[in-house]
Amino acid sequence: MRQPLVAGNWKLNGTRQSINSLLQAILGGMQDVKKAEVAVCAPYIYIPQVAEMLKKSTIAIGAQNVSEHESGAYTGEISAPMLHEFSCKYVIVGHSERRSIYQESDQQVADKFVAAQKFGIRPILCVGELLEERDAGATNNVVARQLDAVITTAGIDAFQQAVIAYEPVWAIGTGKTASPAQAQEVHAFIRQRLAQKSAETANAVQILYGGSVKPDNAQTLFGQKDIDGGLIGGASLDASGFLSICCAAN
Ligand code: PEP
Repeated sequence: MRQPLVAGNWKLNGTRQSINSLLQAILGGMQDVKKAEVAVCAPYIYIPQVAEMLKKSTIAIGAQNVSEHESGAYTGEISAPMLHEFSCKYVIVGHSERRSIYQESDQQVADKFVAAQKFGIRPILCVGELLEERDAGATNNVVARQLDAVITTAGIDAFQQAVIAYEPVWAIGTGKTASPAQAQEVHAFIRQRLAQKSAETANAVQILYGGSVKPDNAQTLFGQKDIDGGLIGGASLDASGFLSICCAAN
């Protein structure tokens, strides 16, 4: 039985004060979240503050990116051992905004995945197609290519310590959500792709859906057979909405 996971991706948002209020409010409602593990992926600079605030809670801490390098002359980068020192359990790798705005390649994403795991951090590997790729019937090809880069580099067993997030790019921050059936179809495809290498790993790995998840659509999405929770952008910045989404996994 896979435990659901609901992870908030705060992106480039927040101040010391707003993060303090947001987390206090989330902590205040956590008693209603019965089933899902909850994580928040904060901007790097706020991770120590988040770690301090969450040290007595069950909410896990995540980062939004990590360098593929461990140390060295890489100005502006943050490494996996640094995140490990600040109690990060998760790190998002290959978010579509990183792939498109910062031109991260499939191989670079795979290297980040490996770098995170070397320090015991679970990557949340994002995969997903652009609207034109969906319209061209290429969704499965794109998702397979993104997955295969990681399988080839990290090996199938590495997915036992990782999470996958299917995020159709056309649904991120647009208010357009994939229908539960559309999402389920791709989630099942991802699981089948992994099962070609290891049925056990495919069955165990959590596959989250991301893309305009809101309190009013979370329950139907999370009710699909192969959807094990969500990666939540915009809606994770509002405590009551985020808590409702977490409870939708109950
Ligand atoms: C995301 O950025 O991972 C995301 C899913 O964003 P949103 O929920 O705002 O679509």
